[in-house]
Amino acid sequence: MIGSMMNYQLTLTSIMQHGKQINPNKEVVSITSDHDEHRCTLSDIFERSAQVANLLKSHNIQKGDRIATLAWNDFRHMELYYGLGCSGAVCHTINPRLHPDQVNFIINDASDKIVFLDVMFIDLIKAIEAELPTVEQFIVLTSDVAVVEHLGEKWTTYEDAISVYSTEFDWPELNENDPCQLCYTSGTTGNPKGVQYSHRALVLHTMAAIVPDAFSIGKNDCILPVVPMFHVNAWGIPYMAAMAGCKLVFAGSKVADPEVLARLIKQEGVTLAAGVPTVWNLLAQYLQDNNISLPSLKKLVVGGTAMPPHLYRYFQDEQDMAIIHAWGMTEMSPLGTINHIQAKEMQKWDEDTLFEQKLKQGVPVYGIELKLVNDDGKEVAWDGKTSGNLFVRGPWVVDKYFNRPDVENVNGWFDTGDISIIDEHGYMKITDRSKDVIKSGGEWISSVDIENAMMSHPEVSLAAVIGVEHPKWDERPLLIIQNHGDAELTHDEVVTFLIGKIAKWWMPDAIAYVDAIPMTATGKMHKLKLRDVFDGYTF
Ligand code: ADP
Repeated sequence: MIGSMMNYQLTLTSIMQHGKQINPNKEVVSITSDHDEHRCTLSDIFERSAQVANLLKSHNIQKGDRIATLAWNDFRHMELYYGLGCSGAVCHTINPRLHPDQVNFIINDASDKIVFLDVMFIDLIKAIEAELPTVEQFIVLTSDVAVVEHLGEKWTTYEDAISVYSTEFDWPELNENDPCQLCYTSGTTGNPKGVQYSHRALVLHTMAAIVPDAFSIGKNDCILPVVPMFHVNAWGIPYMAAMAGCKLVFAGSKVADPEVLARLIKQEGVTLAAGVPTVWNLLAQYLQDNNISLPSLKKLVVGGTAMPPHLYRYFQDEQDMAIIHAWGMTEMSPLGTINHIQAKEMQKWDEDTLFEQKLKQGVPVYGIELKLVNDDGKEVAWDGKTSGNLFVRGPWVVDKYFNRPDVENVNGWFDTGDISIIDEHGYMKITDRSKDVIKSGGEWISSVDIENAMMSHPEVSLAAVIGVEHPKWDERPLLIIQNHGDAELTHDEVVTFLIGKIAKWWMPDAIAYVDAIPMTATGKMHKLKLRDVFDGYTF
């Protein structure tokens, strides 16, 4: 016997229908290559999504076929999110910051049939076009026909491609387990791996993410997703906006331009912005230099890497924002844990203890289960001290990678590759990636803790810590610093600064200065590259 409720399918189409009916007039503002300031409504977007669906039909695109996007955040990309997914195709978002060889690999691995791309990425795709046999058409996201002239028969503009089609479409009944989005991990170790999200996963993820103790999104919000739409579906914000009914602001290719971000936030009344600390660092610098405050912006969602303490304090104390620190992964759609509102009893803690707590990655949202396991496979206690390998499971966690039957979960749990501790209140703290942890004399040193402590020094722009072979201790930490200016701290000055902030035996054995710490395509410090640079280093 089963329960007596309707077998209603949780699909993106249901989010679109809700948005169309309940929130049609919500505004969407975008910067694109052909518009300094484009304004439309959710309803306009869904009408044009129907035109996209009709275009796919005329191309004989079948259910489950992958269609690629290499695009910034804007209204057209959002039309593709819904037009592709709701018609049964899979919207495969590609990170244009990846190496061209990886873009080539990914398009072929996914057998993409059409590529939608921004003007800025024409050269990137043109250079590998001959190696993409599955792609039948390249559609440039612009109205400017001049940009596609001389590119060849397979090339056209988006506006030309969709304009001939109806704004009505008979959306198919889809199964909630059908795929709708595909995103590859950045592949800092080996080839990128594809995660194919189901409708059900994304709907449940959206419902879990908008609640008060998560992103806290409602009808009066105006959201600026600085996180790119090619990075885990912009953390799901294009779905949240249609479900909750809020205004959206897209910065196009200007996502790393703090002047544009500050202007958009003020002009449009942005209440919530989401992105990685690197972007918030640039914004903080710009706001401080120009003595600007952003009173409308009440909620700052931060994820991707740990929020450095000095940035946390700046936005909390100087800009009066609530910092919503989130942890997740491409494999988790992405939301796993969130550190938002502290329980009442924590508000009584002394300020330093409370701040330490706020810096953690937070508690799992409903739907995500966490488990900490030691190297022998035994679960470790949630005591705030014992670290272990972090495993997760839940309805929006990857079961199998796309095209990779060789990679399997362990008894139904996904190994995140993160090392963490969880305290008795359920607050999780990432102490390292398992591949970055430093093993010294049989004990683990957290590179993340040293980095965070060091990055609170005013002279230091970025700090990375890697393990280097040591004759006595196996490995010891090497601290690599990218400075704001020219003044280099001595080893003694660094040690004096770090005393009291990290355990004594964690003190870096040496410091190296670099002009720029290499970054990955998703804005994280590229430790693999750093390890190559310092290969053979001796203390
Ligand atoms: P990539 O493609 O760069 O691997 P992901 O977003 O999938 O992108 O990366 C996930 C990893 O990023 C996590 O496993 C974790 O190590 C790190 N991460 C994400 N959010 C946080 C955070 N708030 N604090 C610390 N690390 C984080």
